[in-house]
Amino acid sequence: MNNYHLSKSKYCNGIQCQKMLWLDKYKNEEKEKINNESVFDNGQEVGELAKNIFGNHVNIEFNKDLNIMLRETEKYLKEKNIVLTEASFVYDDNFCSVDILVKNNNNMEIYEVKSSTEIKDIYIEDLAYQTYILKKLNYNITKSSLIIINSNYIRYGDLDLHKLFVIEDLTNEINNKLNEVEVNIKKIKETMAINNEPLIDLGIHCVTPYECPFFKYCTKSLPLKNVFNIRGMSNSKKFSLYKEGIYSYEDLLDAKINDKYKQQIEFELFHKEPIIDKNKIKEFLDTLSYPLYFLDFETFQQPIPLYDGVKPYMQIPFQYSLHYIEKENGKLEHKEFLAEASIDSRRLLAESLVKDIPRNVCTLAYNMSFEKTVIKNLAYLYPDLREHLMNIHDNIKDLMIPFYKREYYTEEMYGSYSIKYVLPALFPNDDALNYHNLDLIHNGSEAMNAYANLGNLSEEEQLKIRKNLLKYCELDTFAMVKIWKKLQEQMDTIKN
Ligand code: SF4
Repeated sequence: MNNYHLSKSKYCNGIQCQKMLWLDKYKNEEKEKINNESVFDNGQEVGELAKNIFGNHVNIEFNKDLNIMLRETEKYLKEKNIVLTEASFVYDDNFCSVDILVKNNNNMEIYEVKSSTEIKDIYIEDLAYQTYILKKLNYNITKSSLIIINSNYIRYGDLDLHKLFVIEDLTNEINNKLNEVEVNIKKIKETMAINNEPLIDLGIHCVTPYECPFFKYCTKSLPLKNVFNIRGMSNSKKFSLYKEGIYSYEDLLDAKINDKYKQQIEFELFHKEPIIDKNKIKEFLDTLSYPLYFLDFETFQQPIPLYDGVKPYMQIPFQYSLHYIEKENGKLEHKEFLAEASIDSRRLLAESLVKDIPRNVCTLAYNMSFEKTVIKNLAYLYPDLREHLMNIHDNIKDLMIPFYKREYYTEEMYGSYSIKYVLPALFPNDDALNYHNLDLIHNGSEAMNAYANLGNLSEEEQLKIRKNLLKYCELDTFAMVKIWKKLQEQMDTIKN
């Protein structure tokens, strides 16, 4: 009954919630796909790079037959001094591969690599699990450390691994946790040995440290509209209301919650008429002027800075779409930019932007802080373009404002002011504005992943992806034009 095979990731899942691990084994068909592919890819890339921190090393190749990895590890551990990556060990059916293992005589140091810029509790659990196994196998572990990314590192020239990565020595903390690991392993194995679903209720562990893929399954008995559908409310508040037994929209009406959450609930329960505050909308529209530009950037971010002047996870723009109207009742025009694959195109993008947007014109963005940050970073990088870029920056207005302030709000916005909710709420039957009708690229993360992978594709495949990236980004600014026009229509109803 104790033969459940544990790995680092299963142990960490079990620490988050044993029911998650149980469902994964016994009700796997209920698991929902959570899209974190780029996180996975980034993790692998960072892991591979970090392996070089200690210079020459021997990598234990992955093999489905773990015994082969174990045998290889054993063979190389006969060396007096060696750095091994993916060295693999098993103790009592608990398996682990150590990202980096440094052996000096009889002493060993364990390094676990993460693509994050901060230490998280779950990483400590992961490291403790590995240290436990190696100590149980009687190895002399003198150091247990995490290797994370230094968020302050700015690349100039070749990557400096010793500045890009930070080594956090957690030996004392880990050693103090080893008894806890033993207890956890025992509990996990007991849970996995029973046939009945564990009785574990919903809690903050359902969303932290990772979103649980069984959340839909575990909430299936809740009313369709429940506390977890409230937009903008913190997870801790949602779970504390749930614990108090307050989870249906009806229950929430009497609960102590912010008015904006109540508003969402009332709109959806009682199908209330839309809020359209024409005076406020007019005030907003009066701040805009012709020529009027609509701007949207697509960016990507990577833990390992690709270019000079870039920090880990900095937003790098690779594309923009720009719709514009020169004068009242003027024609809607469109311009765009999409970088070539795998080259630093920030300069070309910045030059194109100052060519496409004249000084002193009003530019609309949706959730402008993002566009403003991108432009400010470009202005910092290119002093000769700075004055023009900052002029664009200073003249940006935010089309999100009337929706953010709920001066325009409908039941179908479901408490959100994101364009992905506002657009279908305002244009429910317009196929041309439906992101689901696009091919291949339907949202910002798909765009980011598609661009990041562009250089690995054939010319023909690249053309196809580029065409779809352009269509996607164009829809973003076209949607803004349609939303702006919808606001204007409300003014027409005042005039008439
Ligand atoms: S949804 Fe929550 S309770 Fe259910 S398995 Fe996942 S973490 Fe556990």
